[in-house]
Amino acid sequence: MFRGEMVAFGEALVRPQETKQQCRPTTRLSSYLVVALLLTALTLPAFRHAPAALGIVERGPASEPRVALTFDDGPDPRFTPEILNILEREGVPATFFVVGEAMAAYPDVVKRAADGGFEIANHTYTHTLAGALTPKEIRQEITRTSDLIRQMTGQEPRYLRPPRGELTGHFILEARRQGLRIPLWTICVERAEVKTPEALARRIVEETENGHIILLHDGRLDRRLTVQALPLIISGLKERGFAFVTLDELLHGYAGVVTLDEPVL
Ligand SMILES: [Zn+2]
Repeated sequence: MFRGEMVAFGEALVRPQETKQQCRPTTRLSSYLVVALLLTALTLPAFRHAPAALGIVERGPASEPRVALTFDDGPDPRFTPEILNILEREGVPATFFVVGEAMAAYPDVVKRAADGGFEIANHTYTHTLAGALTPKEIRQEITRTSDLIRQMTGQEPRYLRPPRGELTGHFILEARRQGLRIPLWTICVERAEVKTPEALARRIVEETENGHIILLHDGRLDRRLTVQALPLIISGLKERGFAFVTLDELLHGYAGVVTLDEPVL
């Protein structure tokens, strides 16, 4: 019955969209269900809980006005220090999904983040899309980065986010094997068609809801707009009464439910 899916197990379950849509959440339920069916053999009582059972989560609990800022693709000496300055000035915690090879290149930057109390999480070693990797390579990408996080920061990594949100069955299995949850995101800040920090911030401030995981980027590409928008996002969300927490604070003790609703793009 599921032979087609079995054949495609090592292939990308979610393909990235075109470049300008790189922030688009890839939390397609159909993809989750394929994996869920394979891994659980229909043992779960309700499919809508299957992604969460696999460690995949796209938001925190909606019961409290708390949100988590998450930064992908650093450390990057061009942008990460400035972002840390803003977060420290505003007293805002955050979670950094770091790329292993960037940690190796810029150890001082990631150490400063860790010393400042920021949470460090795994974003693979080379930022290669999961669908382009063998199972062995996926294991190495995740292991090397977690090892570096332990060595450089003393933190025990708990969270793993796949590059571009691309998930494969092997990626999910390896995350489970290493005890890592997979937080995707609820809403993404950067959009190629938005050219001003005010416009970037306005949409986030207006559309953020309780428990949202907010995705921003501090590396790889030119992130000046993100840096400029960050103070506006923080002040706007504070005005709306939101408190900022790390991802671990948001998700700790929360199994997570992936809704059937369309995510906020
Ligand atoms: Zn990334």
